Amino acid sequence: MWTLEQKIKTKIFAKGISIDQSVFNIVKTPLTLDSYGTNSGVILKFPSGIYVNAPFSKYNYNFVKNSLIRLVYSKSKFYLHYRKVRLEVEVIPIPSFYNKMNSQGILYSELAVTHTDRVCVAPITGCNNHCKFCTLSKNYQYRKDKIEESIEATKVALVDPVLPGRHILISGGTPRPADYEYMKNFYRSFAKEFKGIPIDIMMIPNENILDLEELKKIGIDSLCINLELYNEKLLKIYAPEKALIGREKYLKFIEKAVKIFGQGKVRSLLVIGLEPIEEILKAVEALACIGCDPVLSPFRPAPGTPLEKLPSLSYELMAKAYRRAEKIVAKYPGVVLGPRCKACGHNTLSF
Ligand code: SF4
Repeated sequence: MWTLEQKIKTKIFAKGISIDQSVFNIVKTPLTLDSYGTNSGVILKFPSGIYVNAPFSKYNYNFVKNSLIRLVYSKSKFYLHYRKVRLEVEVIPIPSFYNKMNSQGILYSELAVTHTDRVCVAPITGCNNHCKFCTLSKNYQYRKDKIEESIEATKVALVDPVLPGRHILISGGTPRPADYEYMKNFYRSFAKEFKGIPIDIMMIPNENILDLEELKKIGIDSLCINLELYNEKLLKIYAPEKALIGREKYLKFIEKAVKIFGQGKVRSLLVIGLEPIEEILKAVEALACIGCDPVLSPFRPAPGTPLEKLPSLSYELMAKAYRRAEKIVAKYPGVVLGPRCKACGHNTLSF
């Protein structure tokens, strides 16, 4: 049986939340900094330690309406109201550097953003690929950041007095071939500068960008190689460049990554809501059997993308996908539904 918190988190992914004026009266900073699809909500922490990234009206999501879940502030505490339930929650703040600039007049938050305790940096903003569910390729112009400026912003983020970072994710868009060397240098520079702080890399399985042996040697902690969808026909529609790489190459690369980095150090996101559940479960099995942690990432139809009018996945289907996926990974010792960091699970179906 699911706990109340598991149910509420899943319901939030399906319909979002509404926010009472009492919250805006007390929180004077923005509730979220990020317009990237699954990061775009306010992050809440439940009493058991479960985090959820809760979409609300800010980015005009088509599915965020008629939510029965309401965030309110009363007598110095935040609560989620849902039918007769009143659940006390913590509202995770945005970092205090959000409106501060570096010496070049660039906002630090353009270079690094912290969600919960993870500092996310994007060597490339925008993307050379065109995944239809992603806001990066559609809403942002392709740009490279200066490595030294990203390092400086990350240092600021790690010691932020309101929301200090404890680990680093290097993600962002897929580079153009001319920028592959820049990416490698970015990884090397971060590994050298931030020794002792776990660094995670999210990227496509391209050996010209990710030299697995070298990354392991320089101290990169973990990798996230996102298969996204299992059905190749649908992948061709939703993520054409990833479909060109092909599922087989993805899985071979992930298998090699697990051998080099070890179990628990490689995960792969699956978008749930764009293909039938049976296909998602095939992906879960294919990843789990090679030692990779599958991560269920609920599809959030983001405004500005070609899929903005699609529905989100219903609560019932999300719950069904989760329960069946959980049974599949249980067959493979050492594999879990990721991510392993609870705080980083705020935007994924994980508890
Ligand atoms: S490759 Fe990644 S960043 Fe680029 S469009 Fe696809 S999902 Fe977005």
